Parts: sequence; structure tokens; C-alpha cells
Amino acid sequence: MMLTSRQIFAVASAVIAMGWLCPAQAQDAKPAEQPVTFFQNVRVFDGKSGALSSAMNVLVRGATIEKISEDIPPTDLIANTKVIAGGGRTLMPGLIDMHWHTMMVRPTPAALLAGDIGHLNLLAGAEARDTLLRGFTTVRDLGGPAFGLKSAIDEGTVAGPRIYPSGAIITVTSGHGDFRQQFELPRLLGKPQSRGEQTGAAMIADSPDEVRVRVREQLLLGATQIKLTAGGGVASPHSPLDVSTFTEAELRSAVEAAANWGTYVTVHAYTPASIQRAIAAGVKCIEHGHLMDEETAKLIAEKAIWLSTQPFPDEMADAFPPGSRERAKAFQVLAGTDRTFELAKKYKIKTAFGTDILFSAKLAQRQGELLAKLVRWYTPAEALAMATGTNAELLALSGKRNPYPGKLGVVEEGALADLLLVDGDPLANIKLLEDPGKNLLVIMKDGKIYKNMLSPSMALGGSDR
Ligand SMILES: [Zn+2]
Repeated sequence: MMLTSRQIFAVASAVIAMGWLCPAQAQDAKPAEQPVTFFQNVRVFDGKSGALSSAMNVLVRGATIEKISEDIPPTDLIANTKVIAGGGRTLMPGLIDMHWHTMMVRPTPAALLAGDIGHLNLLAGAEARDTLLRGFTTVRDLGGPAFGLKSAIDEGTVAGPRIYPSGAIITVTSGHGDFRQQFELPRLLGKPQSRGEQTGAAMIADSPDEVRVRVREQLLLGATQIKLTAGGGVASPHSPLDVSTFTEAELRSAVEAAANWGTYVTVHAYTPASIQRAIAAGVKCIEHGHLMDEETAKLIAEKAIWLSTQPFPDEMADAFPPGSRERAKAFQVLAGTDRTFELAKKYKIKTAFGTDILFSAKLAQRQGELLAKLVRWYTPAEALAMATGTNAELLALSGKRNPYPGKLGVVEEGALADLLLVDGDPLANIKLLEDPGKNLLVIMKDGKIYKNMLSPSMALGGSDR
């Protein structure tokens, strides 16, 4: 039988792809080539339970936690294993911030709207590194053009956390996320987009069809979940806090497009009306919820909807000038924080932790402090489980759109190796996380060490690496 050149090419490609022509190489690409890190003598907080383990040894191979054991696995103590002498300190999962805006942490609101996008990306890159060095190894980005930064982080160009991007915030005309000036009205087809839309920070949509287009655009760009603003917000100039924005049909259109893509919609919503409408439309997660009432809390619990809420710092209001409407709105939301957490606890709502820090590099430095603030309502163990294992459960709602397949937020065999070595016991003293520079001795993401303050790591056999 004669083969055509195309058939010969196809067979040759298959042979090469299957490694038949170079078996030695294929065998060499074995786990032995992957970097191995061995945490010796650590007590593990696994991201779920209320207590530390007894002294354990944790072996990380490549990006994965391979073995957790009381015994030292003898075969792995070879010359290329990096050994970290834990000295009985705590090994815990990397922290997760479920409400983060990678592109909006450092710039002022004015710079965000008018600044050069290259500059904004560089600011975001610098902040991403700092975020990781605060122990936050994953963030769910709830609005902003973070796709480029995510790529740069994933390929190793920039140090930073794993990012679950939403892409542009989708809003209605005058809604939370519409930062246009009055002279930019009316919006007409064929007219240039507003600045926020051009940069991919926020997209305006005013019908189910338009919502569908905007959602699908974000999915094309790589969104892992979709974010809509279902009610008014603090930072936006045209949306009073009390308003509901999208109609139920519009919300449902987004939910359907996201579900077809295997993922979900989360909405910014403070008020009972906006939360209830979103739930009726099939939304799976509510952001904030600070003005919710008892009836709404019950509904959230009954329908097993996620509440992704934040213990906002009082200084949040400082981003807005004294006397401004935005500042007044900030105080109104702050006043609802206590009640929201109380309702979340009372009705056992599935609650995720995030910070939603905007427009302040200084506030961002307090990311760990905001986590520690949860002990106003939770035990330290509950707070830490929320920021690790529980948050990761919400990340998993992205289903097949999850860009980091594998288990996050836990220390267990087979999970992804995002790990922190804490100098002390954060279950006894959660305030250790308020000073990550001092108390986080080792920070690992995806099996790679980004920080190691312990004495120079020694490979067994005595050679420094
Ligand atoms: Zn936000």
C-alpha cells in the first residue's frame, strides 16, 4: 500500500508525539526532574479542621503535595530535594481573597479612568507581587482588565497570585460601574465606547440581548465567572445604594450564557430587593450583602447561595472626598457589616471571605489584618478555614472554566502546593497574619518558593542550593 506524503507526515507526527522515537527522553521526563521540597517537622492547618496536626513531614513534588506523613519518606531525601526545617511551626494553605480587583488596588479612581493602560498594568504587576508576599496565593478578580496580568503571572514573567478573572464588570446605564460623564450621553450603536469600556474595566448593557453579548465577550477573553452589578454601589457616581439595576430577564440572560459555558454569575448587591431578584434569576453568589434583612438571609440560606462578603475597614470611606455622596454611601455600607455577618452565622449561610480593597496601596497592606478582623464574628480557625478551604469551594464553581485544575485551599495529599509556613500558631493568634513580612517565613505557590526567610536551604548531602 502506498502512503501519500500527508499520511506519512501524520504517522510520523503520531510516533513522535507518543515518544516512540526517543524512549530515553520520554522516561527522563519523570517526576525526578520536578523540583522537590520537603517541609520537615511542621504542624499542619489543613484548611478545614479546627486544630493543628501533630508534627508532620510534607513532601511537595512539582506543583503538588505528594505526601504528608509522620515518618520521613527515605527515598525522597536525595541531593536535589530542598529541605525546609519547620521546627514545629505551622504549615497552612495559601490564603484566598474572593473579592479582589487586581487592576484597581493602586490607582486612584481618576487615574483608573484617565490613566495610561500600560502604567496601570505595571502598577497592578507590582501590587500582584506584594499580594503574593502577603500570603494570598489566589484571588478571585471581580472586575477589571486582569487577563494580561494573569497571563504574565501564569507564565512566570511577574510574581503574583493565581487569578480567577471576571473581566469587565457588567452594568446598566447609570448602574454601579458606569463612570461616564453626562456629556457622553446618549450611548449609540456605532459611537465610540466609553473609556471604562475601552479598557475592559466595565461594560454597559441594557437589554437581555446586550447582556448576553457582554457576558460572552468576557468568556471569550477567559473569564472564569461573570460579575454583574445588580444594585447601586459606593464608588460609582450615578447609582444610589437603594436601586436595583438589571431586570430579572437581563440577569437571567447572563446566568444562561454563563451556565452554557459551564460557569456561574455573581452579583454585586447590597439591598434585599437586588439580592432577591438575583436569586430568582439563578445567580449563584452574592457579593457584599451589607444591607440585607432577615428574610433575605433566610432565602440565601434556603437556596444554598454563596455570600461573598467583606469586613470593610472604616478607612474605606477615605477614598472619597469629605461631603461627597460616595463617602456617605460608604458609611451606610460600613454600618451594615456587623448585622450581615451575624445573619450569615445565624442562618449558616455559605460565606466566603474577601476584601474588595480599591484605590489604596496602603489599605492593601492590611489585607491580612482584614482577615484577622473576622474574629469579631468567628473563631480564628473558622476565619482561616473560610479564607482557605471554604473559599476554594466557591472557586470550584467555575467548573471546567477553572484555569488551575487541582485542589486549592487545603493541605492534603494530591492538592496543589500553595503553602505558607507561619512562625507561630495562627489558630491561637490570628494576628500573626497582620504582619506577613515578619511572620510568613516561607511562601510557596504552585510548588515554587517565592519567599524563604529560614536559614539557607540545604539539600541533604550538604550542598547549598
Ligand atoms: Zn468589588
